Amino acid sequence: MSVPQNKTSSIGYPNLGNSLHLNRFQKSNRPNFRYTSVMAQQPKPSTQSPALNRLIDQLSTLPGVGRRSAERIAFHLLKNPQDQTVQLADAIRDFAVNLKICNQCGNATDTDPCPICSDESRDHQTILVVEKPSDIVQLETTGQYTGVYHVLMGRLSPLDGIGPGELNFEGLIQRVKKQKVREVILGMHPTSEGDGTALYLADQLSKQGVHLTRLARGLPVGASLDSVSKAVLGDAVHGRRRID
Ligand SMILES: [Zn+2]
Repeated sequence: MSVPQNKTSSIGYPNLGNSLHLNRFQKSNRPNFRYTSVMAQQPKPSTQSPALNRLIDQLSTLPGVGRRSAERIAFHLLKNPQDQTVQLADAIRDFAVNLKICNQCGNATDTDPCPICSDESRDHQTILVVEKPSDIVQLETTGQYTGVYHVLMGRLSPLDGIGPGELNFEGLIQRVKKQKVREVILGMHPTSEGDGTALYLADQLSKQGVHLTRLARGLPVGASLDSVSKAVLGDAVHGRRRID
């Protein structure tokens, strides 16, 4: 796919002369333009490799990767040994082809249902709701939770157009109805959007007669009172625990 003519890359072909790799593109794709005064006023046609443009276009779609970052990654890959770049491409292809979404909890998995949902020794009457699969990885490293999970695949964010219909809410409500769930733990991140998502879910689940809890918030281990924000300190006071 080539870049539209009015979107010529800021690091287009004329700046690429110092690299042996880039000279490859120069030799094969260099157009023979003769600039007239009229042409000089028009947008420059892309002189960059179509394959390079395609990679940059695709990398730019990743979260947190803008056009310039995508170009940096692409040129880093260009300098890499070819077999390393092919291994990366193979890993992405394997991920895209083989990774599944667990039809019970929404976790990313090689098997469906996922190993956690398949584990009979876990407490299937307790569901910890998280925003994304990586939250499960973090929680599992603690070794403190023995229930199962439910992945929303995001959080409510009206400004970004993410409403209840875009998240895996319905699957959770159906599980609560069908699986005799005793407790739902809301494990959203402590952000305004995470709080909004937790409030919405609490309202939806309140009709199901299930015990609702939320992960504790407050002072991090090792913190001193004068180094944490007022919000964290307020949460710590509100969520204080009895010393047994
Ligand atoms: Zn699962």
